[in-house]
Amino acid sequence: MSVPGEVNGGFATGDLIHLNGNSLGPPRTDLLDRLGTVVSEQWARGQVRAWFRDGWLDLPRTVGDKLSPLLGAAPGQVVVAGDTTSTTLFNALVAACRLRDRPVVLVEGDAFPTDLYLAASVARLLGRELVVESRDGFDAYLGEHGDRVAVALAAPVDFRTGRRRDIGSTTALCHAVGALSVWDLCHAAGVLPTNLDTNNVDLAIGCGYKYLGGGPGAPAFLYVAERWQSEVDFPLAGWHGHAEPFAMTPDFVPATGIDRGRNGTPPLLSLVALDHALDPLVAVGIDELHRRAKALGEAFLDALRPDVEVVSPRDPDQRGGHLALRVPDADAVEHGLAERNVLVDARPPDLIRVAFAPLYVTPEHVRRAAEAIHSVLSPPN
Ligand SMILES: *Cc1c(COP(=O)(O)O)cnc(C)c1O
Repeated sequence: MSVPGEVNGGFATGDLIHLNGNSLGPPRTDLLDRLGTVVSEQWARGQVRAWFRDGWLDLPRTVGDKLSPLLGAAPGQVVVAGDTTSTTLFNALVAACRLRDRPVVLVEGDAFPTDLYLAASVARLLGRELVVESRDGFDAYLGEHGDRVAVALAAPVDFRTGRRRDIGSTTALCHAVGALSVWDLCHAAGVLPTNLDTNNVDLAIGCGYKYLGGGPGAPAFLYVAERWQSEVDFPLAGWHGHAEPFAMTPDFVPATGIDRGRNGTPPLLSLVALDHALDPLVAVGIDELHRRAKALGEAFLDALRPDVEVVSPRDPDQRGGHLALRVPDADAVEHGLAERNVLVDARPPDLIRVAFAPLYVTPEHVRRAAEAIHSVLSPPN
């Protein structure tokens, strides 16, 4: 049973041009087959036994290992525990703070709102001070007051403008002053190489439903560098993070390895959907995905009238997988484009984002999208 509608590269795109890859893109056409097999062959036949006999209990880790090459991580360091990005970030931030008895949690003011809210909440909870800095101020603060910083939270791709922050040099800056780095990879995973191991990243989290294509509400992932795994103390000490969950002992003994980052019973069908979405991404590989996204971005810019203001860096190596355009009224442009079957997302008041998910967006799509933008911005008289 395949998902009906027009198909692009094995994705059920319908007649939509999806440039809103920062949210929810189309499913693969054979997703229903995969979910159907799990429901009828595993769930219906095995029922509760399927947790043990069909690998369900291991899925948070097997999906994590499948995702690892896209992140530049050796196996055993990524887990998809089944929680939201926000919950996973909370878990990572508290755990990172517990590794450094210092007063400050540092974050960029342009961070995604949930990151700001959670950093503030974690600081409040643990009696630390939240320091919010501009992009340049972030580096300057590390340079001048780095010995006060417990944890610096950063993102390799600015969610509004697409501007990149270099993971390697920022992490090195944190380490030089004895701070830990926590990376939010939401807008990088699946489109930009992050090389977590070679960049010496401490902890990272990211979203399953953006470029990874895991579907509505797909669970988030957590990376913990191997060197921290025996030390890290997560606040969400749920029974699936226990060394022996089924021993049902009263005391929490954390699992060795990345299983420590697990929490409770995972949302199995959502994990299966994410697992399924990862196959073509892993097959293509992160370097090629990045190359394709860059080529699509360049084709889009070539087709765009020069009077449309591009807020993102023009150099494709200075941005992630999306571009931001300044328009008079972002919501109106988003709606006008949607009427023309082009999905973008508005960041009011005056930005729209166009994202180039490399597996289902085509060069033809980006040319048609540019035309649609021109016609919405200056409708024919
Ligand atoms: C999309 C996104 C989230 C989403 O958080 P959820 O808990 O999954 O809703 C969080 N942080 C960043 C940076 C994002 O881009």
